Amino acid sequence: MTSRVWAMSMEQRESLIKAAFEAKQMTYSPYSKFPVGAALLAADGTIFKGANIENASYGGTICAERTAIVKAVSEGHKSFIALAVVTDVPSALSPCGMCRQVIREFCAQDMPILLVPADYPKPPGDESEGKPGISAGGVKDTSIGELLPDSFGPEHLELPRTGGDGRT
Ligand SMILES: [Zn+2]
Repeated sequence: MTSRVWAMSMEQRESLIKAAFEAKQMTYSPYSKFPVGAALLAADGTIFKGANIENASYGGTICAERTAIVKAVSEGHKSFIALAVVTDVPSALSPCGMCRQVIREFCAQDMPILLVPADYPKPPGDESEGKPGISAGGVKDTSIGELLPDSFGPEHLELPRTGGDGRT
């Protein structure tokens, strides 16, 4: 929705990563046994934490990223600086397709998304070092523009349309 990109300090980055690990502790994932934590930094500095919350009716499951976003938006926040995501896997894992579309709705195309390995911070000289997009500690720095290219978003609903049944 917003196109403004906000700057993030190194302190905020560390706090956000720490919050993602804290969020993961609150996971309810008895079925997948795959804990995920997310932390979303709002423009006013508030951090919203989210964990994956599963359901015996599997389709009722909500991912950590969407938990964090829905918490923030339902509290009146719609401008965000960054998102961090961590799992129990010692490498950077990407959000699922459904979460990417929800991130696309509320976050700028180039807003930083930090994919954090479970063993963060990896020591200097780790094998992940030097891989594309991998920064200090083994974090993969990406964005929704990279994760979901050529995406559909709110602005497309505003485009002029040609005639036809049910259209203007
Ligand atoms: Zn997801």
